[in-house]
Amino acid sequence: MTYEAATFKGPSKPYLEIKDVPTPKPGPGEILVKVASTGICHSDIHLFKGDFGPVMPGFIPGHEISGWVEDFGPDVKNPWGLRKGDPVIVSWIVPDGICKYCASGKENYCPAAAGRMPGLVGLNGGHAEYLTVPEIAVIPWREVSMFTTHRQ
Ligand SMILES: [Zn+2]
Repeated sequence: MTYEAATFKGPSKPYLEIKDVPTPKPGPGEILVKVASTGICHSDIHLFKGDFGPVMPGFIPGHEISGWVEDFGPDVKNPWGLRKGDPVIVSWIVPDGICKYCASGKENYCPAAAGRMPGLVGLNGGHAEYLTVPEIAVIPWREVSMFTTHRQ
């Protein structure tokens, strides 16, 4: 099974090309997310120009991601009690969850997070129909929307 993704082509325009890529299977501790939308960010341009380091052709950018849970990999702990179809956002910070920074609620300082940022570093992102991400980066929409739902 394949899906469409906007993949990195090279460091000159056009930076992206739409390709059919194999639908990923979520690995251990990962969740497969069906993408609802991704933001296009100026950081994408920095990425394309190599400002964050070299980017391999075929890499899928997109680090502002919302979607729905599609599937669970083995050994997912699922502390949120997520079910297939639940709306989620995907954090571009993917901490390890165990270091001193994570333990103190400062996941943005986690050393592990610097090497895995969906759509920016190490992990394919959301300019695609699907992506797999470590479950620690998958946040239920209900936890985010508690600040916004009262306008509905
Ligand atoms: Zn950490």
